[in-house]
Amino acid sequence: MGLMDGKRGVIFGVANEKSIAWGVAQQLRSAGAELAFTFLNEALEKRVRPLAESLESKIILPCDVAVDDDIASVFKELERQWGTIDFVVHAVAFARREDLKNPFSQTSREGFALAMDVSAYSLVAMTRFAIPLMPEGGSIVSMSYLGAVMAVPGYNVMGVAKAALESSVRYLAAELGKQNIRVNAVSAGPIKTLAASGIGNFNDKLHVMEERSPLGRTVTQEEVGKATLYLLSDLASGVTGEVHYVDSGFNISAG
Ligand code: NAD
Repeated sequence: MGLMDGKRGVIFGVANEKSIAWGVAQQLRSAGAELAFTFLNEALEKRVRPLAESLESKIILPCDVAVDDDIASVFKELERQWGTIDFVVHAVAFARREDLKNPFSQTSREGFALAMDVSAYSLVAMTRFAIPLMPEGGSIVSMSYLGAVMAVPGYNVMGVAKAALESSVRYLAAELGKQNIRVNAVSAGPIKTLAASGIGNFNDKLHVMEERSPLGRTVTQEEVGKATLYLLSDLASGVTGEVHYVDSGFNISAG
């Protein structure tokens, strides 16, 4: 018996095999879950489709999370094919490269709004469309980073977006608890992915974590996947509105 046997859900945010969402997908599938995937554009579809099919997924849909109609179409299709769902994984984020490179005070109005829209508001929109498909309850997990609660050099506007994301997790959890819909975030340590390549001084972040975290190393995509599996499963039935750190203990280390 797998932990997720009989459970179905959708994963937003696989770009390639390095994506955190892919680490999550592999854990969920090996625990027995049935998965649907989304991809941002045609170029990414070429990467996402074979990965999804390797986990026996049959629902693989386009979705730009900045477009409400795209999100609505995904959940409409899930309703048509499955009726209900048990979980949603939100692992998407975007900020313009210049807004991660320039000093934070130089962030443009448009760049700020874009980062907030794609990286934080999208969780609210996704949850809104997911609610009707979770009549008996469900679990939603998003991905955050320490830059939400500390000024991490080079993280800039993405840190502000992650602060909004973590706050959204708490407000959604407070609203939806009575419907047995749990909403949590995993705050992951730095991992080399496509999105991470846009973050300034990213290699420095990896080295600082190796030097200063209690476990003395960075975390893996698999470890983030395992923690997300826990939050999505019935093992975490009493857990909601939390930011769960998976960062080798770096957030509590004085260095
Ligand atoms: P990634 O590049 O593999 O994933 C980011 C995903 O966001 C991609 O699949 C991309 O297609 C998607 N995306 C961007 N804009 C989108 C849009 N408008 N519509 C739909 N999808 C869109 O990188 P990742 O590191 O796996 O990122 C996944 C999540 O984990 C992000 O929220 C990121 O901030 C978070 N995170 C990453 C790290 C890290 O060090 N890599 C650490 C903590 C948190």
